[in-house]
Amino acid sequence: MYSRRADIHARFDGQQRGGIATPAKHSIVIVFTGEEGEEHGYSDRWRDDGVFEYFGEGQVGDMVMQKGNRAIAHHAANGKSILLFKIAPRGVVFEGEMICEGYQVRPAPDRLGNLRNAIVFELRLVENVIERVSDLPTTNGTLATLRERAFAAAKPAPAKSTSSTTVFERSRDVRDYVVARAVGHCEGCSQPAPFVRANGVPYLEPHHIRRLTDGGPDDPRFVIALCPNCHRRVHSGADGAAYNGDLRDKMKAIEIA
Ligand SMILES: [Zn+2]
Ligand SMILES: [Zn+2]
Repeated sequence: MYSRRADIHARFDGQQRGGIATPAKHSIVIVFTGEEGEEHGYSDRWRDDGVFEYFGEGQVGDMVMQKGNRAIAHHAANGKSILLFKIAPRGVVFEGEMICEGYQVRPAPDRLGNLRNAIVFELRLVENVIERVSDLPTTNGTLATLRERAFAAAKPAPAKSTSSTTVFERSRDVRDYVVARAVGHCEGCSQPAPFVRANGVPYLEPHHIRRLTDGGPDDPRFVIALCPNCHRRVHSGADGAAYNGDLRDKMKAIEIA
């Protein structure tokens, strides 16, 4: 249980009112869900398939894809982590880090009770995306086609009606490309991958250098393939933050063309 004002805005800044806060100096988008919203015609809910339907911002008239709504749709492309909090009587409760896999536009009442077009985001817990993407990296296709797919996967979350790929496929496309790009060597320490997977693909782990957690679609310019040692170092080492800075510098040379 956190205090929205003392624990969130005092430390990270960002809009103190409304459902979506976009602190300018941090790579996070904070979204709040709760009872309050229902008076305004919002009915956020968890679906059986693990998707959390989250109504965007805009209390009267059609919702538009700007400000907070745009921040959610573009979070992967912009390297921001979505943090979901549930509003409780005495504060806010952290629900988890989310990936936006797309959105729907559907009629829903606004604050005045008039029907309007609401943007309903489909969010999924990042840990569930990582779980489902544990299938073996493929070696299907040339590096150029893998790269093309990875960059396509990092585009802003699509409208439901225009999307043909799932968030799992997008996440996998990014991983497969960075592993192929590394050609069997850790992009951190340049050592060969310590072993190969069952299908012969060298074992390397995708690390997201500008996000809080790994997994989900991201711009391949900000995802580096690491050996397990380098990966543990960046997350658990005393010099982890500094090492992540080194990796950022390395990425500038790795993904230029
Ligand atoms: Zn390494
Ligand atoms: Zn990592």
